[in-house]
Amino acid sequence: TTLNLVTAYKNFFEGRARYPRFKAKRNKQSIQYPQSVTVVDGCLKFPGRVAKVKAKIHRPIEGTIKTVTVSMTPSGKYYASVLTEVEGDNPPASTERSRSEGKVAGIDLGLKDFAIVNDGVKTSKYANPKHLAKHERNLKRKQRKLDRKEKGSKSRNKARKLVAKVHERVSNVRQDYLHKLSRKLVDENQVIVVESLNTKGMVRNHKLAKAISDVGWGMFVNFLSYKLEEEGKVLVEIERWFPSSKLCSNCHYQVAEMPLDIRAWICPSCGTHHDRDGNASANIRAEGIRILSVSGTGTAADGGDVRPKLGRKSKLTQSPVRSEAQASTK
Ligand SMILES: [Zn+2]
Repeated sequence: TTLNLVTAYKNFFEGRARYPRFKAKRNKQSIQYPQSVTVVDGCLKFPGRVAKVKAKIHRPIEGTIKTVTVSMTPSGKYYASVLTEVEGDNPPASTERSRSEGKVAGIDLGLKDFAIVNDGVKTSKYANPKHLAKHERNLKRKQRKLDRKEKGSKSRNKARKLVAKVHERVSNVRQDYLHKLSRKLVDENQVIVVESLNTKGMVRNHKLAKAISDVGWGMFVNFLSYKLEEEGKVLVEIERWFPSSKLCSNCHYQVAEMPLDIRAWICPSCGTHHDRDGNASANIRAEGIRILSVSGTGTAADGGDVRPKLGRKSKLTQSPVRSEAQASTK
């Protein structure tokens, strides 16, 4: 616990996180065992008085067990996360190969369609499943029940668990969807290009806040990132202010305005008929390829800097540069 607190303060002082807060007993709880936990026939064996606990072990545990984190969800379920150490290396990064023979996909993330993917040949759209919206009525009803219960009562705790269960369900379904979609895209491509998100800034727009937190872009990019990294593939994140929807993917003409309600447009310069999102994802893809060709060779080829060890870092980020074609049309 002390180690966690130290980390929390460190993250705060180094500007990565908010000031640590006290957590209520009813919220998610967890405890870490840095050593001496073992797995014996369907049970986890803890040091001290806890001793053996029956567990559903959903995959074989390989390697040496390091830290085991036991957590309890707000709905009262217990999980143990077992960290193990395995000999061997991850596959090496392979931008060189991917740029020559692999496929590159550009993804535009949105609210109407969750993801619009352009792989250079075709554009595929994946609908936004709106998980939370589907459970909204159920959630409201249970929340209302909870609000009527007396504070500190047993029945209030029961009602609280029911609400927590719905939230848990929504979050599980959301994760499942994001895992499956990211797995599919990572299997099909060597390089994936996304616009870097400023979800926090967007969530401050109150009208869209719920829809944006429900959609789970950040989690999706995170899943893409580690899945790509596992296979030595590359995630490219381009700057948020890259004018992906204002550029013509055919001639690079840039229109001054592109209001959100315009779903299709015709380029005034070359006359190409564009679907808004398909055009944006094609631009994102092209920009990603440009960034790779500028910065890719140096860093990616020697294998060092593209694939650091922790977190969402296996990405190349670079500000867009005005392309010649774009400048000449002005
Ligand atoms: Zn054009």
